[in-house]
Amino acid sequence: MIVAMQEHASEEQIQNVTERLLELGFKVHRTTGTIQTILAGVGTPSVFDVKDFQVLDGVADAYRISSPYKLAGRSFRPEGTVIHFANGVTVGGNEVVVMAGPCSVESREQIFSAAEKVKAAGAKFLRGGAFKPRSSPYSFQGLGLEGLKLLREVGDATGLLIISEVMEISQIELMMPYVDVFQVGARNMQNFNLLRELGKIRKPVLLKRGIAATIEELLLSAEYIMSGGNYEVIVCERGIRTFETSTRNTMDISAIPVLKRLTHLPVIADPSHGTGKRDYVLPMARAAVAAGADGLLVEVHPDPDHAVSDGAQTLRPDQFAEMMREVRAISKAIGRQA
Ligand code: PEP
Ligand code: MN
Repeated sequence: MIVAMQEHASEEQIQNVTERLLELGFKVHRTTGTIQTILAGVGTPSVFDVKDFQVLDGVADAYRISSPYKLAGRSFRPEGTVIHFANGVTVGGNEVVVMAGPCSVESREQIFSAAEKVKAAGAKFLRGGAFKPRSSPYSFQGLGLEGLKLLREVGDATGLLIISEVMEISQIELMMPYVDVFQVGARNMQNFNLLRELGKIRKPVLLKRGIAATIEELLLSAEYIMSGGNYEVIVCERGIRTFETSTRNTMDISAIPVLKRLTHLPVIADPSHGTGKRDYVLPMARAAVAAGADGLLVEVHPDPDHAVSDGAQTLRPDQFAEMMREVRAISKAIGRQA
């Protein structure tokens, strides 16, 4: 941490800040300039808040120079994390992995049809919500256990890996036999109790960025899971809420290279929730892959106009097949495979 003292800070104020740094376990290196004193706190105390220093008497500003997330930070594993699945699929390696399927599991016919179509186009994972976090309590809430059973059945029949959302702690055990990846939705990104419990399991977790979460907050949430010993976390940019109303959310493409720099975890992008409109999904999918995403999470339905949730942002199978063709071309152009 760097603490820059005000130009005419007194010796007493400088000593006070120095003592506070020492109390936290920092080694202090002082530079006394003709008009300003700079204190560099070197070391890695487990917890401190830079704001506590910014308000001390005589301080002009204080900056953190190490990241507040140790396990999620790039330096923990500079080479990057690659998650391996039983069928040989990897996430975070050279391959750009596509996870696709309907917003919600609706029926046997619907999920089997969706699975067959996304698999034919090249998806490696089937997505589908069995527990749905809906903005209105009157909207469809998901098929629950019945939906999970359908997902497992279709996963086993097609060889697709299964990803589905977990909304609360009590669902973790229930879902365990049915899913290959637990999805934590945007609304639960800071459900710290849920994150801690997911840290105790040994199955990958896909953590979505909250609608008003900073990148640092997303990585601190990943740290919650990792601090329990579960290092298989995938982070997902899915759009954030801004003043713009033309799209459901504002897809933060720049978060992708920022995350790739800050963390070793695989980074994927969800252009469906990122835009809310199916016409914009393909261009944002292209952009996300070009920006360095390790994969995509995309909503696809055999008949999106009759989908029970998120139909407007859901691709028809033919649109998804076109997306996959373009994603493959872009991946190849940047030295990756899809
Ligand atoms: C979803 O994937 O269907 C979903 C609810 O996503 P999010 O949590 O990003 O809104
Ligand atoms: Mn959805």
